[in-house]
Amino acid sequence: MHELSLIQGLMNRLEEVVKENKAKRVKSIWLKVGPLSGAEPQLLKEAFNFFSKDGIAAGAELHIDSPLVTLKCDKCGAEAQREYFTLSCTECGAGLPISDGSEALMLEQLELEME
Ligand SMILES: [Zn+2]
Repeated sequence: MHELSLIQGLMNRLEEVVKENKAKRVKSIWLKVGPLSGAEPQLLKEAFNFFSKDGIAAGAELHIDSPLVTLKCDKCGAEAQREYFTLSCTECGAGLPISDGSEALMLEQLELEME
């Protein structure tokens, strides 16, 4: 599942940040989900709960922000505001370009508990 690998990447990043800051653990996480990531906040939360059962982010609060984006269809020019990427234009049914997912998850803010 896409969301699992995204969260796994996030957990690795969190471990680095905790180490760099000599913190004890992560208390809260604010994530921004790229609208073209194809990742669903609900599934991200489930994946996070799975990976954070123990370790540095155990019991941490996860806040997810998924901004709307305007997508424009190449074929008919229709524009639509979407929270998540869907694979076709609602007007004419043409396929829309898929992002490479490089901006799938952005770590916006972290609250750390210090020693
Ligand atoms: Zn269209």
